[in-house]
Amino acid sequence: MGIKLVARARLDAWVDSLVQQQTVYGAQAKGDRFAFDRLERASALRLDYDVTILPPKKYFQPQREVIMRFNRKTVEFESVIDEEPFVLFGVHPYDMVAISQMDKVFTMNQFDKHYMARRANATIVVSSVETASSSVFAACMNNATMRGKSGHDVLITKLPSGHYVVDPRTEKGDNLCEGLAEAPEANAEALDAREKVLNQNEKSLRKYELRVLPEDLPALLDRSRSHPVWQEKAELCYSCGSCNFVCPTCYCFDVEDEMGWDMETGHRVRKWDGCMLVDFAAVAGGHNFRSKRSARYSHRYYRKGKYSWDTYGEISCVGCGRCITACTANIANPVEIFNTLAEAPQ
Ligand code: SF4
Ligand code: SF4
Repeated sequence: MGIKLVARARLDAWVDSLVQQQTVYGAQAKGDRFAFDRLERASALRLDYDVTILPPKKYFQPQREVIMRFNRKTVEFESVIDEEPFVLFGVHPYDMVAISQMDKVFTMNQFDKHYMARRANATIVVSSVETASSSVFAACMNNATMRGKSGHDVLITKLPSGHYVVDPRTEKGDNLCEGLAEAPEANAEALDAREKVLNQNEKSLRKYELRVLPEDLPALLDRSRSHPVWQEKAELCYSCGSCNFVCPTCYCFDVEDEMGWDMETGHRVRKWDGCMLVDFAAVAGGHNFRSKRSARYSHRYYRKGKYSWDTYGEISCVGCGRCITACTANIANPVEIFNTLAEAPQ
């Protein structure tokens, strides 16, 4: 199917038909903030959201999931795989980039069938950003738009006229957009208007200005191990882990076995963990490889700006800005830290 130009009423009718047929998650208002949640009707969908509290990675790596059931007595076990198809509607480009990075992480050394089953069953509709959040800097990280990027099935972009350009990018996307078959094709004027929206997003999604190129961050961090900023900021850190949990590219988890009352059957649970938490690097014997706050504090930045680059060739801060607003101590802004490091004499 080609690229369609769709009026809001037709878009709503399409979304209403989708939620009747399958599970759809979309951004919705929660008080004065926004969150992805199960969508019941098109009128609840807020494509004008600025940023969601948690990133949509929660649909691929849930905060808590049962990954195995077992019986100790019979020595039987079975993996628990979630294979229900779903649609994720209205993901912002920076969050889509994060999901693509997660795809690499969960297939790189070990194919994670729990994550990948959900990923294979997802159809992702990316929405170009309509409202920039107060702390977004995705444009500094080259993640303001989907230009040159993949992983999504449909891209929708609202034009100043109020119409939407709906652009299926994959076979799954084509299938999802079948309900728009009668909509007119987007003409050259509409596509030109979309380019202007994307150009504008590349200018406006930079509430903070990173004064170093993303690809120069690994070398910058490499020479900044002993910078005093790590200690100075760490003294204010509560080790609460909020900056980890809201981050679309943080994927660390802990695994625990939970026994039933019979002490024979049980299940294995995987849940989010975070490198800013004091016990994250604790191991048997009472050792903790990052017992100092400054070590945990600096690790998060090295993880975002260097280790991911060294491992899979990408900077894993996508510029969503969530950690900036989540941190009550006001010390989690990656741009502030990277700019501080860049100012140091070489
Ligand atoms: S480090 Fe902060 S700004 Fe960067 S992707 Fe994670 S939450 Fe977003
Ligand atoms: S940097 Fe902020 S959000 Fe992160 S652990 Fe420390 S206090 Fe919590």
